[in-house]
Amino acid sequence: MGLIKLIILVAVIIGVVMLWRRFKAWQISSQQTSSTPNQPPLMVRCAECQLHLPKDQAIQAGNQWYCCDAHRAARHHD
Ligand SMILES: [Zn+2]
Repeated sequence: MGLIKLIILVAVIIGVVMLWRRFKAWQISSQQTSSTPNQPPLMVRCAECQLHLPKDQAIQAGNQWYCCDAHRAARHHD
């Protein structure tokens, strides 16, 4: 019975190592595909309510940034 337990233990260790290697490979490949790894999103400030938000979620009007379309409309009556 001791040999069976040893075989199961070795199989579990091999499985964990293979999963770990796959995880590390996935982690490296996901870092390579990302254009800006380990970089926080560039923050901008809403000119209306002074809220800070990521640039990709902000709305630009002229040289000002806004958190939402309502705040953009509040400053830009067009
Ligand atoms: Zn705002």
